[in-house]
This record gives sequence, structure tokens and C-alpha cells, in this order.
Amino acid sequence: MSASSPAPNGKRVLLANPRGYCAGVDRAVVTVEKALEKYGAPVYVRKEIVHNKHVVDTLRERGVIFVDETSEVPEGALVVFSAHGVSPAVHEEAAQRNLRTIDATCPLVTKVHKEVNRFARDDYDILLIGHEGHEEVEGTAGEAPDRVQLVDTPDDVDKVTVRDPSKVVWLSQTTLSVDETMERVGQLKERFPELADPPSDDICYATSNRQFAVKAMAAECDLVLVVGSENSSNSKRLVEVALQAGAKDAHLIDYASEVDEEWLRDVETVGVTSGASVPDVLVFELLDYLAERGWEDVQEVTTANEKITFALPRELRDEKIRSGVR
Ligand code: SF4
Repeated sequence: MSASSPAPNGKRVLLANPRGYCAGVDRAVVTVEKALEKYGAPVYVRKEIVHNKHVVDTLRERGVIFVDETSEVPEGALVVFSAHGVSPAVHEEAAQRNLRTIDATCPLVTKVHKEVNRFARDDYDILLIGHEGHEEVEGTAGEAPDRVQLVDTPDDVDKVTVRDPSKVVWLSQTTLSVDETMERVGQLKERFPELADPPSDDICYATSNRQFAVKAMAAECDLVLVVGSENSSNSKRLVEVALQAGAKDAHLIDYASEVDEEWLRDVETVGVTSGASVPDVLVFELLDYLAERGWEDVQEVTTANEKITFALPRELRDEKIRSGVR
């Protein structure tokens, strides 16, 4: 796991592993690609299939039309629901409009939806830790809007009200900072000592693995570059985690061309990682950019080996899972 000493010019790159595409993103992107192959363009996708500019732009060029709401999809057309999941209301609206649907919701998001349903059935108040306005949170809360309250900031902890303090559970968005979430849980438990924990971790393996890897190298880094988009929750968390874990500076970029040369002034060790929705081609472009400026020595910092894959949605099961957008 630990990296060796810098090259003679003092410049080195520490490359986080795991980084980039997770199983849920791979599945969602392949779902759209296979839907294009099988049914032809246009394929409508509600919201960005995954929160990455490059992926979305590439799929748009291949004939995908991204919409914000199912009401924008012509009657009878094919629509794919994104990896972040949708509420039952969205499924109902699609059915009313006779849309053909393929659901690319990540199975780990579906797991949280099922937990909401189960605890709502058992008459719990559910405190959902997550970021206000994020699509995943809207879909998850939409499973039981009368029972779910969103807890985003410490202020929200003071605001929530429950009917019975002995029947309250916390659940979370899958892509949060592990440490910050546990902080919020601690604050909630001060108010509700009987607060129940989720049956298993809601923050997914990919989010926590990427945070763990960046933490392992951050203290050695003068600068950490996280490849990811501004609307990607797990990518933004990687920047925060890097800074909290001791990186002197950290930035989120979509492309190598967004690196500001000023960031590289007096820098020896650059840490590189990427969010769960980022194809590795963008990381390699960044490594090329850095190599051209003297950072040729790349040392991988490996903290886990991920082997998880998910089957494609039922409608496309005969297809092999392998994305062209990598
Ligand atoms: S980040 Fe986690 S929850 Fe989101 S798509 Fe990837 S595996 Fe699924």
C-alpha cells in the first residue's frame, strides 16, 4: 500500500486504486449502449445516466436524448431510468404515458429503497442522511414521502421531529463521506438515543473504497487531482476527504485541460484519483498531461481489489456487460 520515494527530479504521481468506474455505473452505461443497439436511436434517458460530463456527451452523440422528466418523453417511446434511482411516482407516470422503460438503478440504491419500504411498513420514522436536491435522495425519499425526513446539515438534526423516539431509524445516500455521515449519526443519536442503524451499510463499497484509497495517500500529496464532475457527489467527497486527510491542496476536474498550471507550482507529489462515474480514459489523459510536465514516475497506491459486477436489467440480460465508454 505505501508508495516508494520520489524520482530524482522529486516529482511523482500517486495513483489511487480503486478509483473510477464502479459496478453500478458500468451497468448503467452498458444498459444505455445495449438499448441503443437493440432498439435503435433515439433512446430517452431520464436525468443524466451517471453524473459524468464525458459519459453523457458521448452517449448524446450516439443518439441518446436526456430529459429531466418523463413528461418530456413522447408517448410509447423507450426511456431508461438512471443509476441514481427513481420514486414509485415516476414509474407510475411512465406507465400512464405508455412508455417502455428500462430501469438502470444501481442495485445498491435499490437496496436502500427496499429498506425505506420495510421500515415505513413497520411504522418507523426514517431519517435519511443525504444531500438536498440530489436525484438519488429524491428517489429514495419518494418511496415513503410521509415517513422520510432528509438530514443534510447539522441544523437539520435539530429540526427533525419524530412521532415515537423508540421507532426511528437512519438510512443514507450511497455516495456520502463516510466520516461526515458518522458525525451526523452521532449528532442524531444525541437527540434520539434509541435511533436504529441500517441493517447493512448504505454508503456503497465503491464510495468507501475510493475514500479509503485517497486517504491512504493524501498526507504525502502536495496536490490531489480528482477527476469527476461537479454534480457527482462521490467525486466531490473525494476532494473533501483528501484535504481532511492531509493533502495540501485538492481540486475536482472533468478533464486534464482544466488543470491550472498555478496549482503545480512547487509541487512534488501529485495524487490522482477519480469518482465512481469516471471512465479511466480521462485519468490516463491526466497522467499524460502530468508526464509532459515532468511527473513521469507513477506509483499505484492499492488499498482494495474490487471484483463486484452486476447483471444487466432483465430486458437486456442476453448481452455481455462491458462498456465502450471507458
Ligand atoms: S457509486 Fe455505489 S451506489 Fe452509486 S452506482 Fe456506483 S456502486 Fe452503485
